[in-house]
Amino acid sequence: MKSQRLKGQSAIVTGSSSGIGMAVAIELASEGAKVAINYSSSEKDAYEVVKTIEKDGGEAIAIKADVSREGDVKDMFKKTIATFGTVDILVNNAGIQKDASITEMTLEEWKLVLDINLTGQFLCSREAIKEYRKRGFTQNSCALGKIICMSSVHEIIPWSGHVNYSSSKGGVSMFMKSMAQEVGRDKIRVNAIAPGAIKTRINKATWETKEAEQKVLELIPYNRLGNTKDVAKVAVWLASDDSDYVHGTTIFVDGGMALYPGFVDNG
Ligand code: NAD
Repeated sequence: MKSQRLKGQSAIVTGSSSGIGMAVAIELASEGAKVAINYSSSEKDAYEVVKTIEKDGGEAIAIKADVSREGDVKDMFKKTIATFGTVDILVNNAGIQKDASITEMTLEEWKLVLDINLTGQFLCSREAIKEYRKRGFTQNSCALGKIICMSSVHEIIPWSGHVNYSSSKGGVSMFMKSMAQEVGRDKIRVNAIAPGAIKTRINKATWETKEAEQKVLELIPYNRLGNTKDVAKVAVWLASDDSDYVHGTTIFVDGGMALYPGFVDNG
């Protein structure tokens, strides 16, 4: 039996019909949170996540919304509030890659990644902050509300062939910190998680063969790939009052990938 650290609270996890978002949603629910499973296209997968949570005794709904569209995001918050009464936790998880060398990258590929990975976090956070302020404090948490932004080790590690993605995550880092500075006095707690190489479909090419996996392991001092639960457990901690004095920071969940692994044998 889990400690039910999030009992009475409700959460929106964007892009939670798969991968890290799905694991975060399931883990939040197992700690007592009611969860809105946001998806943009995979309705069937989103309802599977809802079923998994309900089977475990939790509460969840599936909501279709493209996080890069203002109207969709507003509707997603309205539906969640209509169902659960309010929102206490936002996990800005939705993200994509559209990789190409800089001269091959189209303006559409650049814009799409920035729109979903960065503007999407802005649109969702803005709605969350409005709701937190309107609702006021509850007995369920010391904070007025929590926001967790899914970043990446590429918020600090440059990534050739991925300028759109790394720029979006560098943007998430400064977005998160500026927002944390702005809303901290309201007791809205804002943090980010920067995953390294976590086994999901977004990076399947890096782990689907033994050779590919061996190559990526050279970049990870702790010598294993991450799994989605590694990230989900940190998200639960950041959403709970156990981390009440943690604000405006990024937690790297990367097995040391950001530690300049090229220097491991004396550089
Ligand atoms: P994933 O592809 O399984 O998850 C991304 C989710 O975002 C999917 O469910 C997708 O449907 C959803 N999504 C895409 N566009 C959307 C939109 N417009 N509106 C709403 N949802 C949308 O991959 P993942 O690895 O679980 O990625 C989750 C997050 O973690 C992303 O932000 C990604 O950048 C970040 N991340 C992943 C890794 C990793 O190694 N897997 C590393 C660093 C950061």
